[in-house]
Amino acid sequence: MEHRTAAIVSMGDELTLGQTLDTNSRWLSQRLVEAGIVPVEHVTAPDDLERIAAVLARLAQGVDLIISSGGLGPTADDLTREALARAMGDVLVEDAASVAQIGSWFRSRGREMPVLNRVQALRPARGEAIENRNGTAPGLYGRIGEVHRLEAGATGFCDVFCLPGPPREMQPMFESFVRGRLSPPAGRVVITRVLHTVGIGESDLAMRLGGLMARDRNPLVGTTASGGIVSIRIRYEGSEARNRAEAMVERAAQEAAALGAPHVFGGGTDSLASVVIDKLRRRGERLSVVESCTGGMLGSVITEVAGSSDVFWGGWITYANQTKREQVGVSARLFAETGPADAPGAVSREVAEAMARGGLERSGTDHCLSITGIAGPGGGTEAKPVGTVWIARAWRSAEGIQTEARRFAMGGDRAAVREWSARWALAMLWLGLEGRGEVKLLRQVE
Ligand code: AMP
Ligand code: MG
Repeated sequence: MEHRTAAIVSMGDELTLGQTLDTNSRWLSQRLVEAGIVPVEHVTAPDDLERIAAVLARLAQGVDLIISSGGLGPTADDLTREALARAMGDVLVEDAASVAQIGSWFRSRGREMPVLNRVQALRPARGEAIENRNGTAPGLYGRIGEVHRLEAGATGFCDVFCLPGPPREMQPMFESFVRGRLSPPAGRVVITRVLHTVGIGESDLAMRLGGLMARDRNPLVGTTASGGIVSIRIRYEGSEARNRAEAMVERAAQEAAALGAPHVFGGGTDSLASVVIDKLRRRGERLSVVESCTGGMLGSVITEVAGSSDVFWGGWITYANQTKREQVGVSARLFAETGPADAPGAVSREVAEAMARGGLERSGTDHCLSITGIAGPGGGTEAKPVGTVWIARAWRSAEGIQTEARRFAMGGDRAAVREWSARWALAMLWLGLEGRGEVKLLRQVE
């Protein structure tokens, strides 16, 4: 049977109550799209037998494939087994191989299997258990039958795969068991591509993309914005030969990149940090940072990029004014408490530039980024309200050390101000390296 459409179900009170972010749905959807199967619905259900069974039964009417995660633990709130059996109109039986596997999982760790874990070996009588090599919870496979589907005008079965919740158990189980059992429609090709832009708003970008975004086009082009980064999404879905479809997506991507220039900085899993690190590595240059209100977040974002050590020198967290003076040599005259009453103060162009210059000189790197601002919620004044952030960069040129500083009015709460600041420091560096220093960033006021 073909899997034309699919639904993803995530189970757990921690998800519906907002305590844990559902990352499994995103991961599973990406895998399905790669395989040529279109996810058409995501559902998050609490640990409630009736609700889970109802969700499975309802989804089975309209899709050919359901992949769920969570609710396969050994405790009373793990109800996926029972819910699946109920939706299948089946009963639970003990799976002998699962009893043995769970037993040996514990024995290999020097423990006896707790009585409670025995329920994890239950499976619907007409279903299958899926071995879990990374934990105790076996997965489950079952089919929800024709009765439900006939009413909805569909024929055949709905295949259901229930996987454990922890991503490090769910992902290998998907790869080793589920992937090989997917049956995308013959000839169906789905290809997606993402380009990321910086320094342009979503509506401005949409204006530029114009007709490329028409909803009846294939490949379909859309935009999404997150944290000041606007991404262009391109998706082909159809029955062209794969290489032809790839060429169509490539052409759309090139058109979009040309219309989005000079704002397109990367695609796919690229981030500003990864792109900047790559660029610096190719130029054989190094980077240091001097951070105040971000308290190390910029360094953290940079070091999220594996292999950043050959480019990233490190830096300073100069949170107090004293630290700015003592560690990177910002002049005492720039602060009101140690200088004249009308000194520019810690959040100013002068201090941001002095921080970047001081960091550059002391580290001997080729580039230095500095951030100083008022993250809030307190500390704002009329002249410098919460969200006021100065970001500077210093770099070496034939004429000596150069600096550039920009002032931003970052919206949002403390966390948002800090995140945007770290990201925009990298954006400034990227624009500088591209020779596009004149491009203004969102929320930039000076
Ligand atoms: P469970 O299989 O319900 O015992 O899930 C155990 C743990 O897996 C949870 O406490 C979460 O930390 C994690 N988890 C479950 N579902 C998800 C999900 N959809 N996304 C990310 N993590 C999840
Ligand atoms: Mg759970």
